[in-house]
This record gives sequence, structure tokens and C-alpha cells, in this order.
Amino acid sequence: MTEEFVPQRVFFEPSALEYPLGKLLVEDFRRMGVSVTPTPSHNRVTGIPGKNPAQAYREAKRTLVIGVRRSEKFQTCKPSAHYQLPLVTSCPGMCEYCYLSTTLGKKPYVRVYVNIEEILGIASKLIQERSPEITFFEGAATSDPIPVERYTGALKRAINFFGLEQNGRFRFVTKFTAVDSLLSARHEGHTRFRFSLNCDYVVNKFEHLTPSPEQRIIASGKVLKAGYPLGFIIAPIFKFSGWKEEYERLLERTAEELTRLAPMGWSPEQLTLEFISHRYTLKAKATILEIYPNSSLPMAEEERKFKYGQFGYGKYVYPNEDLEELKEFFRKQADIYFPMAKVEYFI
Ligand code: SF4
Repeated sequence: MTEEFVPQRVFFEPSALEYPLGKLLVEDFRRMGVSVTPTPSHNRVTGIPGKNPAQAYREAKRTLVIGVRRSEKFQTCKPSAHYQLPLVTSCPGMCEYCYLSTTLGKKPYVRVYVNIEEILGIASKLIQERSPEITFFEGAATSDPIPVERYTGALKRAINFFGLEQNGRFRFVTKFTAVDSLLSARHEGHTRFRFSLNCDYVVNKFEHLTPSPEQRIIASGKVLKAGYPLGFIIAPIFKFSGWKEEYERLLERTAEELTRLAPMGWSPEQLTLEFISHRYTLKAKATILEIYPNSSLPMAEEERKFKYGQFGYGKYVYPNEDLEELKEFFRKQADIYFPMAKVEYFI
């Protein structure tokens, strides 16, 4: 997706107008000619059109809700961080396997919260409680926060906030590429900027309305040049005809761009890599097929191994020998293209 996210309709909680950002957003969207309507709560938005689940989902992804996050509590976010940092919920992308399509249920519309200072105030208290231990916050647990950043500037404020926190660290992941406004943030190395990458075949087939791998690679180079700690999540990994060539090309091109733009003194040791092979639950499969009835995602139980999971949700993963082949391949690729990078996990 090269064009920026412009919602088709906007809803706002009246209390959002008590915050300068809320007022500004409502005025700006009205000026842009977007339909702007009050809603009693960002958790109960009605009036999004759609005659069937597929249409309703698509329309929800074109809907922006401006709200106030009232809870004083942050969800935990184990094992990658201590807490979620709730700045945004959902995202306008249409990736067929998006885990949010299951977890957000009937509320896939994009939500932004305008009481950013209050949210960061809670983060500050949580950091103090654990001090002198370092407390990690994840900014993309229930969203991709980049597409709405041009409206809210929330991510930049969070990055600046963590830049000043001795004992707080921030991380998030994105598939989007509008990173320019973040390049000047005073991150002080306290924010790890991660990109979710996949090969052309997978992105073209399943990650609708998201930027191409090449655009993401270019954005990651800019982020590296700006001195951020950088990471990549290669996910979900699929086996398909030609997968080795496609994934090798992706990693080779990524390494080339990083080498070109790395700041003086940077070493691949500072890079993190995460690899996640494709998996699905039956619940997710049912949701996906409701939203994308013609999906060609490989989800045939007989080709997968059932793995018992927490909370009674078993997953269908690649069988052991496929998984071993994938692991071995990506381990070798990491050695070739990112020697010394920290491979966090392969699942
Ligand atoms: S970009 Fe991420 S959050 Fe957005 S639809 Fe795709 S997988 Fe989901």
C-alpha cells in the first residue's frame, strides 16, 4: 500500500473533545470531508455498514474511532515484554492471517486514544514500581501503530518518553513504512523498532493493503540509520513451491540495505531476529473463512500436526520434519546474511 490511511468514517467519544488531540482530530477530519459522528463508547460502536461478515470487516477496517482509554491497568505481555502500551487498537491492513481478526472479534475497527499523557503517566508508575529493574512495554500487542501515527503522533511521544526513562524500554513491530516522523525522535536507544517481513509471494497473496517487502526494507534502513535498535520478525513462514529462493532473496536484499545505511560503529550483534512458522487454530480458521471466503491460506488439518496449547486452544503447526527443514534453512540464512545477529526464537 503506497497511499496513506484515510478513514472512510470517523466516530468519536464526546469525552475525547476534552483533550487537545481529540479536538484537533475531530476538526481535521471534518475539514477533510470525512463523516464524523459521536459514539457513546469506543467499545460499542454501531453504524458501520456491511451486509455480511466479509463486508462488515472491510468497512470496520476503514473506520477510525477516537476514544479515551480509561483503564488504569495495562495488560501484561509475556514473554516479550512486561506490559502492553495501549496507544492504538487494530490497524487498516487486511492480512488474511492477522491474529487480531480473532482476538478483536466484533470490534476490528481502528481505535486511537487521545489521553496519551495519562497513558504514559501509568507507564511511568509501573516503571517506578519495578525500579531498578528494567520494565519493557510492547506498543503493538493489539495493533499496528504506524498507519495512524500521522494523525496522533502518539508513537513519537511514547518514544521520546522512553528516551528519558532510565528504567523503561519500548518495542513495537510494524508492516508499515511511514516512519519519517519518527526518525528525529529522541529514542536514546531505548526503543526497539521491529519490522514484520515476508517474501513477495506471501505479501502479494495474503497481506492486503500493506506495503511491499521492498518498501519495508527501505524503511528499516532509515530506522537503522537513525540509530534505533532494530529487529525483524519473519512471519508467518510458509512452505510453498520456490520458498527457499523467495526467502533467501528477501534476507539478502535486507542485509544489502542495512549494510548500505548502517551508522558508523553498528554491528549486526545489535540486530534481533524472530522466526515464526505458520500455525492456526480452528477458531481462527473459521473466522478467516468468514472474512475471506476465497482464502487460499494453507489450512488443511491433514497436512499439519496438532499441538496442544494453553487455554485449550490447540494449534495446527507444520509437521516435525517440515519444521526442522525450515529451522535449518533460516538458521543458515541468518548465519550468512546476519552473522552475530541475535536469533530470539524460531517457532
Ligand atoms: S498489518 Fe499486522 S495488525 Fe494489521 S492486519 Fe496485518 S497482521 Fe494484522
